[in-house]
Amino acid sequence: MKSALVIDDDPIVVKILSHALNEDGWEVFEASSGSMGLQLARKHKPDVVVCDLLMPKVNGYQVCRELRQDESLVPQPRIIVISNSNYASDRDGALASGADDFVLKPVKPVELLRLLNEASGSTVFMRMEQMGGPLTDTRVFSRKIGEGTRVRFWGVRGSIATPGPDTVKYGGNTTCVELRADGQLIILDAGTGIRQLGRRLMSEFRGDPINAHVLISHTHWDHIQGFPFFIPAYDPRNSVTVLGYEGAKMGLQTALMSQMESPYFPISMRAMPSNLNIEEISETEFHIGSIKVRTMFANHPGVCVGYRITTSAGTIVFMPDNEAHARQRMAADGGREQSLEVLEYARKQDEKLVDFIRDADIVIMDSQYDANEYKSHIGWGHSCVDDVVALAVVGNVRKLFLFHHDPDHDDEMIDRMEEWAQELAVIHGAKTEVAAAREGLEVSINFLDEV
Ligand SMILES: [Zn+2]
Ligand SMILES: [Zn+2]
Repeated sequence: MKSALVIDDDPIVVKILSHALNEDGWEVFEASSGSMGLQLARKHKPDVVVCDLLMPKVNGYQVCRELRQDESLVPQPRIIVISNSNYASDRDGALASGADDFVLKPVKPVELLRLLNEASGSTVFMRMEQMGGPLTDTRVFSRKIGEGTRVRFWGVRGSIATPGPDTVKYGGNTTCVELRADGQLIILDAGTGIRQLGRRLMSEFRGDPINAHVLISHTHWDHIQGFPFFIPAYDPRNSVTVLGYEGAKMGLQTALMSQMESPYFPISMRAMPSNLNIEEISETEFHIGSIKVRTMFANHPGVCVGYRITTSAGTIVFMPDNEAHARQRMAADGGREQSLEVLEYARKQDEKLVDFIRDADIVIMDSQYDANEYKSHIGWGHSCVDDVVALAVVGNVRKLFLFHHDPDHDDEMIDRMEEWAQELAVIHGAKTEVAAAREGLEVSINFLDEV
């Protein structure tokens, strides 16, 4: 026999819906609170849970989340949330919490029964697939983007945006780099800098479809925070593909969507009508048009990658958050010296990074601290400038950009770090050029030496 659980703190609603379900041949369990509902759901494992949204103590969102996280509930029940709320954000919030359907109160018993006879499925993931739609014709866009390989910095700051008089020269926006090459537009990370990039693209293309690929290094806030403000993603003529790895705790799509859910943001990602596709990468190599992309896991908390992008004109590496292994491991372990074995292992890990950046024309790399600051930031997931220059020199990099500037570093401090890094390259006797990445700076790979 099919079974249903009705949860509502309004006894009249419970009575009406239970009666209708009973008449239709369902076994019905009744709960007058969220916590009682959770208990009964675990005990009876019903096929369907009908749950009110706003209840004291344990509300409907919590019921949805708890049920969806409960591994003992296999198969999972279909959850129908019922509510007085007519706000799209509440509806979206319920769906994001795990509800399959959302029905506005008052719920007519016939409507509920009709819904139960239909296939379940207004789930978030099905909706995202439906949004794929036909591919936009991107030929005009590719022509306009052009063939030359150009990099432009829209956000160079790590951790948090830092506008103000002390950061005018290098800029206060968090991570976002634009790359145009071989008819493609690739956006590296979606920190707050992506907002201005979006505005610029809209005025440049004036209604011609934009076709953008956004590569996400990881879902720490400073790398995704600007995405809700990326205007091209709200225009149905455009095609935006977001690529990244699944995070340690939640998928890329969930991480991107949840920052746009109530109570954090007023507009849900589902309101973005462009051809928005979010794809989790599982390969370490893939192509965007004729451009080859390789990935490497960074030494950084959670799942974080760097991208090595090979265009027809040259190679760009983007490694925005990374802590060099050797210096991290060399730090005494609780007062004890590290074993040679551990140090050798760390050296090998750094060698992998050297291979990853080897012979690249442009390397954009995390160099958040100076050597002195690093001592009090061991294990924070960021490197000191000395190590980054050394790695770039050993890797025979043509141009290194110091990146992910610390929010506490003003323009003067970054000037000093840049100077020191340039001096270090000279001390190493290397040809590698070094500069601190600066918001608004555009670099053409063909004219690198002129920057
Ligand atoms: Zn970061
Ligand atoms: Zn990070």
